[in-house]
Amino acid sequence: MPREAARVRDIPTLIERARAGEARAVARLISLVEDGAPELPEVAAALAPYAGSAQVVGLTGAPGVGKSTTTNELVRALRAAGRRVGVLAVDPSSPFTGGAILGDRIRMQEHTGDPGVYIRSMSSRGQLGGLAAATPQAVRILEGAGCDVVLVETVGVGQAEVEIASLADTTLVLVAPGMGDAIQAVKAGILEIADVFVINKADRPGVDNTYRDIQGMLALGERGPGEWRPQVVRAVAVRNEGIDDVVAAIEKHRAWMTDSGQLTVRREKRAAVEVEAIALGTLRARMGSLREGTPLSALAGRVAAGELDPYAAAEELLKTL
Ligand code: GDP
Repeated sequence: MPREAARVRDIPTLIERARAGEARAVARLISLVEDGAPELPEVAAALAPYAGSAQVVGLTGAPGVGKSTTTNELVRALRAAGRRVGVLAVDPSSPFTGGAILGDRIRMQEHTGDPGVYIRSMSSRGQLGGLAAATPQAVRILEGAGCDVVLVETVGVGQAEVEIASLADTTLVLVAPGMGDAIQAVKAGILEIADVFVINKADRPGVDNTYRDIQGMLALGERGPGEWRPQVVRAVAVRNEGIDDVVAAIEKHRAWMTDSGQLTVRREKRAAVEVEAIALGTLRARMGSLREGTPLSALAGRVAAGELDPYAAAEELLKTL
């Protein structure tokens, strides 16, 4: 254990090895993010110069819609184009799964021997702010490790998934015919975050209805001139059909993002989420816990005794920081 700890603490070496594309070093750095490790400031400082070098693509959609199949095919297409690819599979609803998610992802194994692909599932064991904060940090590590594209696949369908996917430069929302997904998508707020809709399982009946539904919903949304109109693409991921169209839609969105200046806007939003989460974590640590002797416990005692109101106590607490 002490030897392991010593190795982890040697951040410059770890970064150097990750930059050289060593998967184990990348894995260890991402584990530091998951754990909210004390070495993270040093890691972040070393990786700052590489910020923004990767294209970040989020994928979200209901379980079973074909996210992992599509991700696998996207990896294949991107590799064929000579690009280095990172895949982060994040599952905010079950924080303790760790590497288990990928255990099921047998299809991904075709890429395991490829040094140009890095695949990792992620949980947030110790990270304050959860995966919404941890994901941008993990993206930085993959960028630092030389990935040209990072695919962030969220596993569930809740609000957290929507938030994480929307941190990407380009967000893909997958739906399938006949699953009522289009309606579900609206409920989960997914319509607002989609840059590209992928109607997967287009080999199934009902594709045209789903296509019409989505186009109908898009027509209702107000969009100013020069605003992005989400693309709708059909695919049969399991047969590798339509994947080139998905890649083309991602590229088209990317070009629009760059030309319109929205890429910078979105990346600043991503950075803001990250900075805010780190700042809140630091504040919380400085305020102290309810243990005796901390400013918080002293003030809490006075509030509980009716000597001070909680707002005044909060102001006083902030002054002590
Ligand atoms: P995820 O839960 O969203 O990651 O979905 P998966 O990628 O695991 O796919 C769920 C199931 O749908 C698997 O059995 C796939 O083989 C199947 N599947 C994926 N894409 C297609 C497709 O385009 N057509 C059909 N018919 N099945 C597909």
